[in-house]
Order: sequence, then C-alpha cells, then structure tokens
Amino acid sequence: MALTSKNPAYSDRWMGRRYYPISQYFKNLFGERIAKIAISVSEACPNRRIGSKLEPCIFCDEWGSAAYHREASRDLLDQIRFNKGLVTRRHKAKNFLVYFQSYTNTLDKLETLAHRYQLALTEPDIKGLVIGTRPDCLPDRLMPVFEDISTRRYLMIEIGAQSFFDDQLFFLKRGHTSKTNIQAIQKLSDLTHADIGVHLIFGQPNDTKSRIIETAQRINELPVNNVKLHNLHVLKNTELANLYFDGEFIPDCLEEYTEKVILFLRHLSPKISVQRLAGLASRWDELVAPGWTREKMRPIDFIESRMRQTDCYQGDLF
Ligand code: SF4
Repeated sequence: MALTSKNPAYSDRWMGRRYYPISQYFKNLFGERIAKIAISVSEACPNRRIGSKLEPCIFCDEWGSAAYHREASRDLLDQIRFNKGLVTRRHKAKNFLVYFQSYTNTLDKLETLAHRYQLALTEPDIKGLVIGTRPDCLPDRLMPVFEDISTRRYLMIEIGAQSFFDDQLFFLKRGHTSKTNIQAIQKLSDLTHADIGVHLIFGQPNDTKSRIIETAQRINELPVNNVKLHNLHVLKNTELANLYFDGEFIPDCLEEYTEKVILFLRHLSPKISVQRLAGLASRWDELVAPGWTREKMRPIDFIESRMRQTDCYQGDLF
C-alpha cells in the first residue's frame, strides 16, 4: 500500500511517529512495554580469532560493540540481574528480552550456546532473547536450537549484514559477502520462527542514492522483521581511525546521514519495524568523529523533525 501524507494509515499506529518503531511492534506483540537487557558473554568473532586470516572490521573497537563491556567478567545471570536494575530504572519496563550483544553470539560449542540461551530464559520477567551474530556464523546445527526457542518463547536473531554491496563489505573488512547475508536471512526464515533483524551501516564510500533505494528494496523482498541503522563513525584504535587521520575517510555530517536514512525509510515497507535510526558512540572517550554521534537524542530528533518538515513517512515510496 502506498502512503501519502493525506493518508498516513500506518503512522496512526506508530505512536505519532513517521516510521514504525520497534517499541510499537513489541507493544502489539506482548501487549506491554518491553526493554532489552544487553549482556556481554561472547568474546569471540571469526575476524578476531587467534590464527584467523581475517582482520577485525575496520570500525570495530576492541569490545566488539558491547554496551556494557565492563560487566563482561560477571557471569551471565549476574549480568542479567545487574543490568536489569539499570534498565528498569531507565525504561520503567517490567518485562525484558535478554540481548546477547557483544562480538558473535553463535560461535561456540553447540552445547555451550544452547546452555547459555536456556539459562537466560530461566530468569523471571524474561520474555525472550535477542541474539546478535554475523551472517557467516549460523551453522545448520544451530537451527534446531533456534527453532526450539522460537516456538516456545520470543526469539530475534540480529544479523550484522551492514551492506548488500560487496565493495562496501570489502571496505569494512567484514569477511563475508552480500550473498552470505541473503542466504543467512533465508535460512533462518526457512528453518526457524525467529524474527530477523538486520543491521545496516550508512555513511560508507559509494553510498549512492540508488544504492540506498536498492538496499530498502532488497530488505523488502527478504523475510526481515526489523532494521537497525548505524552511521559509520570513527573510534580510536581502529583501522578506520587511520584512514580518517590520513584523509582517506570522511564521515557523513548529520545532514548527509539524515538524507540517506529518510530515503531508505521512504522506500522501506511500512511493515518492517525500525530498531534504531543512528548509532550512538557509547564510549565517548573512544570517539574520534563525527561529534554528533555522541549525542543520543540529537540525530533522532533531527531525522524525525526533517521527516515532519518534508511531510514524508516510512513506506510512502514503497
Ligand atoms: S564488528 Fe563484529 S565481526 Fe567485526 S570484528 Fe567486531 S566483533 Fe568481529
């Protein structure tokens, strides 16, 4: 269904927003507010494994994108209980999803992984799991574990696709291709009932308008439930920082990034929810550039206000 500003059929259901926030999706699904408890359990990814021929992704800090890396030494249940306290105060939620966030959370012995997932589900008020991973770390043998969880509890698998263009994946040193992204999404959909979330990074070289539109179209064609958008920002001690200091990479300013996000959203199906509009540099002392990515609400407010000014909605060009 095409949307027009005169017929914002979906936006009425989006808590007044011009895009479909995942909080609304969860509210529809669970009938109440849900918050994520991020934990750092995995300490590995294929790019960082000792002896790996791959190198770390050029943007990745040594914490593997963990939100609460300082708690990584606590055991799993301790982290859930400790972070639950923080999240409860911040979001006033009573029900939670445990978010296996750092590094790659499907890279271990099958029994170890299955035990971790099950253990997290034993905690009170935990409605389900969100498991972050890479598209090339979803072996067939893990699918029955996911299917078992997804038929009993809520399960979302978040795939770090980052781009559907091989030259960009090569630039990022991801070590996988666009085809791997597509195959992973398809496999999860064929063999499990998990929701599938896809991470995308805008602000890379060769981010043309036609590519942004093509990315939305690709997502629309795949069994994707939600997207999480990040701007490519520069952290200390990363290869991207070297490129930045050598003048070989210039991050998007907020204006440029906003244009890309809005173009993407306008072509995105209104049935696909949005987890995040922009990344946040949670460890401010490690951020090199751009400065706007250290302010949590500013990019969101800027993008939302630009959507209001230009009177556009997610999916109005879908
Ligand atoms: S971004 Fe993920 S896959 Fe890439 S090096 Fe960091 S932890 Fe590994």
